[in-house]
Amino acid sequence: MKKLPGLAAGIKDKLIQQALERKLRQAASPGGLAPARPTEKKAEVPEEHYRFHLHPGYQQLRIINDGAKRLGVKNPFFKLHEGTAGADTQIGGREFINYASYNYLNMSGDPAVTAAAKAAIDRYGTSVSASRLVSGERPVHRELEVEIAALYGVDDAITFVSGHATNVSTIGYLFGPRDLVLHDELIHNSVLQGIQLSGARRLPFPHNDWEALDTILNEQRHQFERVLIVLEGIYSMDGDYPDLPRFIEIKQRHRAFLMVDEAHSLGVMGARGYGIREHFGVDGEDVDIWMGTLSKTLAGCGGYIAGETALVEHLKFLAPGFLYSVGMPPSVAAASLAALRRMKELPDRVATLQARGKYFLEQAKAAGIDTGTSTGFAVVPAITGSSLKATRLSAALFKQGINVQPILYPAVPEKSARLRFFISCMHTEAQIRATVKILGESA
Ligand code: PMP
Repeated sequence: MKKLPGLAAGIKDKLIQQALERKLRQAASPGGLAPARPTEKKAEVPEEHYRFHLHPGYQQLRIINDGAKRLGVKNPFFKLHEGTAGADTQIGGREFINYASYNYLNMSGDPAVTAAAKAAIDRYGTSVSASRLVSGERPVHRELEVEIAALYGVDDAITFVSGHATNVSTIGYLFGPRDLVLHDELIHNSVLQGIQLSGARRLPFPHNDWEALDTILNEQRHQFERVLIVLEGIYSMDGDYPDLPRFIEIKQRHRAFLMVDEAHSLGVMGARGYGIREHFGVDGEDVDIWMGTLSKTLAGCGGYIAGETALVEHLKFLAPGFLYSVGMPPSVAAASLAALRRMKELPDRVATLQARGKYFLEQAKAAGIDTGTSTGFAVVPAITGSSLKATRLSAALFKQGINVQPILYPAVPEKSARLRFFISCMHTEAQIRATVKILGESA
């Protein structure tokens, strides 16, 4: 038996005795679990352990909702849009200028995209009903993946049924407890969930601060096996972007992997909308894992990973979110493929989107609105400084025919609560001027 130094003899004997008793009890029970001693009273199971209404998350939600009700604030979530939402939308039978959709290039609702989705339903039905590995594969899946890979100039791509699940499954599968994942402090929740699943050590670095990242790597790199750095192409809360060439240089020097989530930069950055890679003119192979979603510019639903064959093939055979999940409905893959082709055919839409975003930013700044670090690429926040103010401002704009979502604590820190404006290529300058005027007057 292991020595227990520093313990008085009496205590040591008692511990040995207790360990022996435990072993005897375990041996007596077939499953190896010790049966309760007859004298032990069965402990009461607290109600919160078997009732959902006492779950701490639900309790917190109710406190927030009850507080809002008392303050006379209407719940700004789950508004019912009655048609295709783009620069305009219909809610409750009323027309609104809409800043709450990611339909950046107006591909959702585009006749060519809709026709492609309908044709795919006619040909393949509405579901593939199985994982791609086992009877779920349709030609349109591969066509989409090949075109996504070509966009980045890399070997191949894989599509998942959800953008969120793409990050969770990819990071969760590829990395493990001996690895380190470094991410921008504003990274999307799906990346955080993926890291948690992987069991890797997680370290955030200050927003867009490549020097801070370099310092962390200088200190920590050697303690880990694989190291992953995760960035977004455009940060979805702030509308700014990383200095990608700097991050590439750092990842190369430290022999780390670099992953870029292009959810909000595909279709938005670069002269043709090819994303942050085109914006900076870097090589597709300089980033190890290109990730993006199909739900924004590509007018569908799902996510993709593009990169070298060894990465994509590996994920195709072993990433749980791909392997054990159904293939995308062909209509969705067809819609995204058509949207991607339309984007290539219509670079004017990209140019207009960029011009409108810049225009919104300039107008808002001139009106004294706090737009934070936005660069005007598709996302422009109006920072209000409190969740209550953001909710009230959103309600005031809604009354005047403008739909914009408030972003509240805990999605952002309370002092950075905001309205978040998503710009579409279909917003007109007149709509933007009217919006900023009302925003300035209501703030
Ligand atoms: N990454 C980022 C940066 C996002 O903003 C989002 C959601 N908008 C996702 C991933 C998840 O994508 P999806 O909503 O398509 O599941």
